[in-house]
Amino acid sequence: MEHPHPDPQIDPATLLAAAEVELAAIDETLRRLDEGTYGRCKQCGSDLGDDRLAADPLAVLCASCHGA
Ligand SMILES: [Zn+2]
Repeated sequence: MEHPHPDPQIDPATLLAAAEVELAAIDETLRRLDEGTYGRCKQCGSDLGDDRLAADPLAVLCASCHGA
């Protein structure tokens, strides 16, 4: 199978950094599931809400804290 040519605009280091950020977010989400704090805002502790979690399952801040 032939690999598609990578977009020359995308630097592999940038992709790697983005993947690491994503992994850290997944890691934190798993930890929060374990602690039972998943679905709560990291900042103010209020419920993130199903809509927000459906849109972004890795969200850690509620809409108002996220915007702040
Ligand atoms: Zn909040």
